[in-house]
Amino acid sequence: MKQRLNVFLLTDMEGIAGINDIGEMDRTAACFSLSCEKLCASINLAVNACFDAGADRVYYLDGHGGGGNVNAKKIDRRATKCSLEEWQELLKNGEIDCQIELGAHARAGTIGGFLDHTISSTSIYSIKINDMEMSEFSLHAILCAKYNVPIIAVIGDEVACKQAQEYIPEIYCGAVKVASCRNVATTDPDADRILVDTVKTALANRASVPCIQLQEPLCVEQSFYRTDMCESALANCSADVLRVNARTLQKEVQCISSYFDLKF
Ligand SMILES: [Zn+2]
Repeated sequence: MKQRLNVFLLTDMEGIAGINDIGEMDRTAACFSLSCEKLCASINLAVNACFDAGADRVYYLDGHGGGGNVNAKKIDRRATKCSLEEWQELLKNGEIDCQIELGAHARAGTIGGFLDHTISSTSIYSIKINDMEMSEFSLHAILCAKYNVPIIAVIGDEVACKQAQEYIPEIYCGAVKVASCRNVATTDPDADRILVDTVKTALANRASVPCIQLQEPLCVEQSFYRTDMCESALANCSADVLRVNARTLQKEVQCISSYFDLKF
């Protein structure tokens, strides 16, 4: 009997093929709708590749900036759109067999990473867990690992891909563009084929990609750009949160139960 294959696509925009300049990520710019169309086109390629590779179900999350970038009507009808909360519910309920990150970018403070940041490019300087510098990718991987769901592939800029391999060496990578500096990139003319091949190869070999290995309890440390940002975050925290310096908060997480346990 064929094993069930439910795939979750967690999408972001910075690592999407064809988005090559910081100006194209400005929600108030006229060209932003074109960037959203590029995101939809990449999602449709990935969804189709998943079904070609034998997927039973494909879910996707419009993850950039809290969502609102993807018009579900423009996405392959076989795929199901999910919120961040629904993603976590699916994980908890054992409904996801593997995850693919589409449109990924490098963590904050990376040379050569297109639009490098971690969650917020305006307030978060760094997030460390058990003394390891985190990317958005690794934060997702830690939550997925809690439910034994491997992230089997990452598609994004070249450095985002290399960085994903630092956390999970066996992961399949599709580098669709290369940054010449933080705010400018060049998309590979073969980007669509790279995306499709990466999804199909990863799904065919998914059993060879392990979950990220990290021991609980977790020590979560987040540094903000400014002292006042740290102070306002602290004001909303429980009493057991430690302010380790002017810009940094620290907490111990005994048992992860939500994505929000991994940050402040
Ligand atoms: Zn983003």
